[in-house]
Amino acid sequence: MLSVRIWGDRGSIPCPGKDTVVYGGNTSCLEIRAGERLVIIDFGTGIKPLGDWLMANDFKKGPINADIFISHTHWDHIMGFPMFTPLFIPTSRLRVRGPVSYEDETLEQIIGAQLTYRYWPVRISELSAKIEYAQIKETSLDLGDGLWVTTKYLNHPILCLGYRFEYRGKCIVTAYDNEPFRNLFPTDPADPSYDEDAAREGEAAAREENEKILRFFQGADVLIHDSQYTAAEFEKHLGWGHSSFEHAINNANKARVKKLILFHHDPNRTDKELEQLEENYRRRIAGKTSMQIMMAREGLTVEA
Ligand SMILES: [Zn+2]
Ligand SMILES: [Zn+2]
Repeated sequence: MLSVRIWGDRGSIPCPGKDTVVYGGNTSCLEIRAGERLVIIDFGTGIKPLGDWLMANDFKKGPINADIFISHTHWDHIMGFPMFTPLFIPTSRLRVRGPVSYEDETLEQIIGAQLTYRYWPVRISELSAKIEYAQIKETSLDLGDGLWVTTKYLNHPILCLGYRFEYRGKCIVTAYDNEPFRNLFPTDPADPSYDEDAAREGEAAAREENEKILRFFQGADVLIHDSQYTAAEFEKHLGWGHSSFEHAINNANKARVKKLILFHHDPNRTDKELEQLEENYRRRIAGKTSMQIMMAREGLTVEA
């Protein structure tokens, strides 16, 4: 069995409060189970309740043993790290992997910078778990027991990886934080810096990159996709590195995804708005595709 449970689905900053009790206020954290194997994506603040849950459940059966993948090192995706209880248990075995944009620092230094006395009462050298850190790029890794992961660079201001997990014929893909690739050259001939060749090449390059991403999603049972904005909001946030609901739905449908989870909610989005949006998008695609769509919600478990 391959499944994903959501512990944090917000982008940018945690947003607890009366308007976020249904979908949750924690930042990005996913728990993936492949048979007996535990995989975690991101150290957003959702890692705190996940750590507590693991201590109350898994730990009774044996030490915590997990592969942890970081989509990228923006703060909302790593800020929960110091509060992950298994870090303080000597028997824990954690393999942390993720992309690094500026290679003068290691993944351990970037995540560990939060654990210095300036910011936190515990230093990274004081963690008692056995933790291995590794920088990864676009690659394919055999994680053992029939579980594979393939990674793909997404379009974000720093290096950011999407993950494709495959286990016994089932597949879960993550694609956040990601903005659709677009032509960066002027396309309007009236623009004084317009260059016909550059405009054409820019168009082709963007299309090619977007097609690579579609191939990465192809046939996934579950796709967890960035959808911070509506299409109207997206126009005002070009270059911020995020997608619209419309883009996520369209891409997932093109790639014949079975279940799409709309993820990385804007921190200002209320429960009422998310409920309404979910209903609207479901109505819009009804009868046109067999794909299921759902808003990410804390506690939601989806089987591949
Ligand atoms: Zn983010
Ligand atoms: Zn980001």
